[in-house]
Amino acid sequence: MPEFHKNLWAPWRMDYIRSLDGAEHGDECFLCHYRDTPEQDQANHVLWRGPHTIVVMNRFPYTNGHLLVAPARHEGDFSGLSDEELLELQKSVRDGVAVLRKTVRAQGFNIGYNLGQCAGAGLPGHLHAHIVPRWSGDTNFMAILGDARVIPDSLDTLAGLMTEAARAAGLRS
Ligand SMILES: [Zn+2]
Repeated sequence: MPEFHKNLWAPWRMDYIRSLDGAEHGDECFLCHYRDTPEQDQANHVLWRGPHTIVVMNRFPYTNGHLLVAPARHEGDFSGLSDEELLELQKSVRDGVAVLRKTVRAQGFNIGYNLGQCAGAGLPGHLHAHIVPRWSGDTNFMAILGDARVIPDSLDTLAGLMTEAARAAGLRS
């Protein structure tokens, strides 16, 4: 099976692949950095925040609209989260799915977590769910585009659309 198809089958593996090419900000936790710089939410593509969660667009999306949903606290495992934090995390995944249905008309989703480096976590210290929107026939379509599937311009545009959708859904002011 070509690497591309393997990745689409398990899209959260992209975390691991990214960690190999050093695409993250060195040792700094980018989720904590985003959490602490709300004035840069637009540039960082932070779509909304809850008291205990942060929802951001993946800078290295697997498909258009690939979201990361993380607890606000730098915590690498479910066992370190309170019931309240866990509930908000899951509700944020629910809201992310709803926003993606509206904005990119996603027809399906891959949703997953990588716990630990050996499982492919590119950022093992800060738990995050991946929400990867899918469309009928997308494997065929994207195999043609190959690495060109990520169009940098579209990330800003899409972030704007999704921010609006989040506002309309009452997820942000
Ligand atoms: Zn962190």
